[in-house]
Amino acid sequence: MRRFQRIDENKEESFFQNYIHFDLNAIFLLDDQEKILSMNWDAEQLFDYLPSEVAGKSIDFLLSKDRCLALSRNGTETPVKVVQNEVVYQSIKQYIVLVHDLKRKNLTDQLSKLIYDSFHEIYVLDASTFFIKVNQEGCHNLGFSWNELAAMSLPDIMPEICKDEFTRYINDLVSGERTKITFETVNRRKDHTTYPVEATLQIIVNGNQPLFVCIVRDTIERKQAEEMINYLSYKDHTTNLPNRSLFNDRLNLSIAQAKRHIHSFAVIFLDLDRFKNINDSLGHSLGDLLLKAVADRLSRCLRDHDTVSRFGGDEFVLLLTNVARVEDVAKIAQRITKALTKSFQINEYELFVSASLGISIYPSDGVEGETLLKNAGVAMNRVKEQGGNYYQFYSPEMNKKVFERLVLENSLRKALDRQEFLLFYQPQYNSKSKKIVGVEALIRWQHPEFGLISPGQFIPLAEETGLIVQIGEWVMRTACQQNKNWQKQGFPPLDVGVNMSALQFKHQNLVKMVAQVLEETQLDGCCLRLELTETNFMENAEEIITVLHELKRMNIQLSIDDFGTGYSSLSYLKRFPVDILKIDQSFLSGITTNESDREIIAAMISLGHALKLNVIAEGVETKEQFDFIQALHCDEVQGFLFSQPLAPEEFEKLLAKNYDIKQI
Ligand code: C2E
Ligand code: MG
Ligand code: MG
Repeated sequence: MRRFQRIDENKEESFFQNYIHFDLNAIFLLDDQEKILSMNWDAEQLFDYLPSEVAGKSIDFLLSKDRCLALSRNGTETPVKVVQNEVVYQSIKQYIVLVHDLKRKNLTDQLSKLIYDSFHEIYVLDASTFFIKVNQEGCHNLGFSWNELAAMSLPDIMPEICKDEFTRYINDLVSGERTKITFETVNRRKDHTTYPVEATLQIIVNGNQPLFVCIVRDTIERKQAEEMINYLSYKDHTTNLPNRSLFNDRLNLSIAQAKRHIHSFAVIFLDLDRFKNINDSLGHSLGDLLLKAVADRLSRCLRDHDTVSRFGGDEFVLLLTNVARVEDVAKIAQRITKALTKSFQINEYELFVSASLGISIYPSDGVEGETLLKNAGVAMNRVKEQGGNYYQFYSPEMNKKVFERLVLENSLRKALDRQEFLLFYQPQYNSKSKKIVGVEALIRWQHPEFGLISPGQFIPLAEETGLIVQIGEWVMRTACQQNKNWQKQGFPPLDVGVNMSALQFKHQNLVKMVAQVLEETQLDGCCLRLELTETNFMENAEEIITVLHELKRMNIQLSIDDFGTGYSSLSYLKRFPVDILKIDQSFLSGITTNESDREIIAAMISLGHALKLNVIAEGVETKEQFDFIQALHCDEVQGFLFSQPLAPEEFEKLLAKNYDIKQI
């Protein structure tokens, strides 16, 4: 049962009601006749009377004559200071009587104020969880006056579903199992709207009776505040970029992801060159505007999932995630350097900046964030020492490799226009007739500076950059043209083998391109062999089958190159319309020493024959190897034993001599 009776129930509520019930001093509210209207919980405690027992009485019976002692029901006398104030509320005179317990006065005054003004809701509950005190914020948020709350318990402002849980918490506190409980719940306002809160409930033992103090935070506001704090602690305010803390978080995340997925990422340390001059000559606020403009430009140079952060001053640190090739990082660094060369219009000034960039790569330059940052910084300082306005990788080998690759890539782009590619031709012999029946076209790059470059050095680069599609078309056209020319010169017709890259098969126009080349060169489709590697077949197998069937319709021969080095499934072999198997040279080189290589070759030849395929052994270098595969009835042979790949004129000489392999 609620002890507290509202003794001023029918009277209009005074402004002071809320206040007196919150104050930690004993307080009485008297009517204009100085009769007690109400008293707060502290007064009940001090005097040991119930409000109903004192209502309508004069306060005098509770105090000594000189008003220096409070007289409780059980005869206890407590030294007090009594202050009585007249207040007029809506034209009605009332009195507030504050009874300060002298022993506690200062402390209670201060605490009262602190709690009353707190921007959290604070409730004090009695043993039955009825409100004893509710501060200003609580009354305000809940929309109830103190008088209304005084007759309510905390569960009255909770939704039904939370009540059982709340009872459990109270029991846990009373049994001493816990001394403090924080929980999330929903508060219901007087107008029945609700708001989510986080409440912390604590028990205070007051004589025999427990009291509960409940501090309530509005979670919406708290979440907004947390977001604000996050924002403040993770953003650089000048540029609005992530700051060092957020960068470090992302760096750690990148390390974890890179470890899991075994990929690389890059850290770029960027420092503006001679930025101090701008700050010194034009002032910091202009400097800040410039930093903001630089930040915007940097952000535009990166991909969405990369991070540009500002560490302070004119230092920016960039995180490039999931880097496939270090050359890509170099390209971004170049893009940044280039983007910064354009002037910045800041107010009436046209400003020019440049930057020094140092790059470290995970994991080769460090597996920990700190090391990566340090090494990127070291690389950046090296750039500064050399006059700035450029980028460098931390590791010298990486610098060299990337530089070479970039130079190569640049010149590869121009090589087609500059007609720097050549085709060499290597003969293929029929092992029975010992005549040249075919020829493989092998590309070479006659580089103006580096000399003749073999395909192993630039085909991967051409594939990575997509240039292989144009290069492949050139090879196809040149090889077909050459073959046709030889036929025109009266040489017996040969099959010309052209190596294909997987990327060409992904290109929509392959079939059209081949048809066009055959049309242009007037070469018969059956004189063309396309060489595909096993991986070529395995990637997008279904789509490739369709393309291969279309090529077959032009009578083109299809051959699997480097057979045995990839993972071709036998069932695919059956389904692909292939004509030729080229056994990889690595098996041949092993036959003199390795029994299993001999067995594998024998098995591959019989497999090819069982599938009705022509089998070619490539890389035949010795008489011994030749004898071995001849005995196994391998159909064709190709290798240094017979001829190196030759320039077209050399190959013509070979044809003209009607060279055959009977002499070997
Ligand atoms: P591949 O198609 O397997 O070509 C055979 C390679 O083996 C050629 O190397 C050839 O010179 C070499 N070779 C021939 N006989 C022997 C021998 O007896 N012993 C040894 N050790 N090697 C021999 P090359 O010309 O350096 O070509 C390497 C690879 O580059 C080719 O392997 C092919 O995959 C690729 N390639 C060549 N030209 C082109 C092209 O036009 N397009 C594409 N996509 N790839 C090409
Ligand atoms: Mg080949
Ligand atoms: Mg091969």
